[in-house]
Amino acid sequence: MAKDYYKILGVDKSASEDEIKSAYRKLAKKYHPDLNKDNPEAADKFKEINEAYEVLSDSQKRKNYDQFGSADGAQFSGFGSSGGGGGFSGFDFSSGFDDIFGDIFSAFGGTRSRARKSYRGEDINLSLNISLKEACLGTTKTISVTRVETCPKCAGTGAKDGTKFSSCPDCKGAGRVRYQQSTIFGTTIREGECQTCGGTGKVIKEKCPYCAGKGVVRVQKNIEVKIPAGIDDDQVLKMPGQGNAPSHAGTNGDLNIKMNLIPDKLLTRKGNDLYLDVYVPFTTLLLGGEVVVPTLEGQFALEIKELTQSGTIMRIKNKGAKLLHKDSRGDLLVTLKAESPKSLDKRSKDALKTLADNISIASYPKYKKYMETPKEVK
Ligand SMILES: [Zn+2]
Ligand SMILES: [Zn+2]
Repeated sequence: MAKDYYKILGVDKSASEDEIKSAYRKLAKKYHPDLNKDNPEAADKFKEINEAYEVLSDSQKRKNYDQFGSADGAQFSGFGSSGGGGGFSGFDFSSGFDDIFGDIFSAFGGTRSRARKSYRGEDINLSLNISLKEACLGTTKTISVTRVETCPKCAGTGAKDGTKFSSCPDCKGAGRVRYQQSTIFGTTIREGECQTCGGTGKVIKEKCPYCAGKGVVRVQKNIEVKIPAGIDDDQVLKMPGQGNAPSHAGTNGDLNIKMNLIPDKLLTRKGNDLYLDVYVPFTTLLLGGEVVVPTLEGQFALEIKELTQSGTIMRIKNKGAKLLHKDSRGDLLVTLKAESPKSLDKRSKDALKTLADNISIASYPKYKKYMETPKEVK
């Protein structure tokens, strides 16, 4: 089951942006890890609240969430809405964090969270061509992606075999250094993270030859993408953690795949319904008959009753697109249009003349009404 973000924030589905923001502030204040050092569950709760807020505070993400929820381990979001990745984020939570927390922290006289900064790899954004049938019925595709991965030879450390380190000369392996700071009150001694080793206490003695000490390598990867039935053009399939690895320990970026629907030659799609315009001989509409129409599951013989008017729309139930993450389907709507002959031989022409003479105007109610209406514009 997908998480109910509204429930997590304790707001109504129709809650306004301000109500969501206010609910989030209250909960974030209550469960912030800095204020709940003795309650380990608070951190999880805090993460959950942030996750919910990240989605509901972004109108595009909220719209997608309302429409699709989340399923198959894949979530939907507006294209590129995760900001291209990179940089830090304390709780996998990027923009808006400072804004909303500035006053909470100052209100409590506290400091910024000491949660260790983690790096996040960049997202990969790409688009994928899918046919109408694939979009309507769902499919699995294998795509080739070039991405940055943690170097397998050194486990991302950048040191040969992941072991060729030596103690950091600047901090003597402590990871922290003391430095003097001059202020108007005099000199103070402060302690901070060692810049040389980034706080690890170790420096690389011999670089990993496989990644040249970078800790990451570019590799081409085949990734299986499960495309849910009912997806539409321009929608983005988000595969969390399938993007680039960061250059330092942290979390991978996401893989965002934008759907590019290749138009079908005959069928068009509007929402979950499919549409087809088909021209048939005018005599078929008059006398009745059959016309073969394409469907997602092969051909279908559509019966045409006699005396069918041109422009009649025939609805074939459950032959449209499947509904995303639901157990129902749209329909196929076929518009029948009369086509008159582009040429006539003498015999046909004579037959038609006889026909025209035989059919009284009473058989054409619309035409009759038109004929009886005065032809003047007021
Ligand atoms: Zn390596
Ligand atoms: Zn150091």
